[in-house]
Amino acid sequence: MRYGIIADVHGNLEALLSVLDALSGRMDRIICLGDIIGYGPNPNECCDLIKRHDIKSVAGNHEKAALGEMPIEWFNPAAACAIRWTQAELTEPNREFIKGLPLTMEFGDFAAVHGGLVSPLEEYLENIFTAVPTFNLMRTRYLFVGHTHRPLMLNYGDKKIINPGSVGQPRDGDPRAAYVTFNPESGEAILHRVDYDIQGVQEKMRKAELPAKLIERLRSGM
Ligand code: ZN
Repeated sequence: MRYGIIADVHGNLEALLSVLDALSGRMDRIICLGDIIGYGPNPNECCDLIKRHDIKSVAGNHEKAALGEMPIEWFNPAAACAIRWTQAELTEPNREFIKGLPLTMEFGDFAAVHGGLVSPLEEYLENIFTAVPTFNLMRTRYLFVGHTHRPLMLNYGDKKIINPGSVGQPRDGDPRAAYVTFNPESGEAILHRVDYDIQGVQEKMRKAELPAKLIERLRSGM
């Protein structure tokens, strides 16, 4: 099996379309690590695409916040503003869809979670020190995590944690959409970057009156 692993789409339809285009016909299955919505101007279109492509996804903190299951006060002002905007936009079928997303998923040799295994929605695995508690809970050889929006690969014994970076709001200084292709048999995980129409998305965000800080960071990738 060949897997495409995506994370943190954040309502960025153009970035998601570019990634799906790059993956099309080359993967057996696509897995999403949560935060399909929040920040970006197309939460419903992104949910619809995830459903249409039968992409299996876990829930992220932005899904829980949009559902009112996580306090918006936990978020910074720009993120909180985008969450309120997203709440008003989300259609009932998509609200039901994100309500049904699990916190973790397992596929044989690998598992998927948004943050980490200690705290699935909130944990930031940034380095080996923050990742050890999650490594200790891993029952699979590989674990894919998102949430930091920065690609990362960590080894601990024969276990591996991989973060594919973010499709819709990269924060590693490269504004292009990020994703990983993964072969569980060989263990090969390859990071890919793909261009998308950043300006077009920024234009939509301006029209939606989303916070300027969120608009600008798409260009800098930070
Ligand atoms: Zn995110």
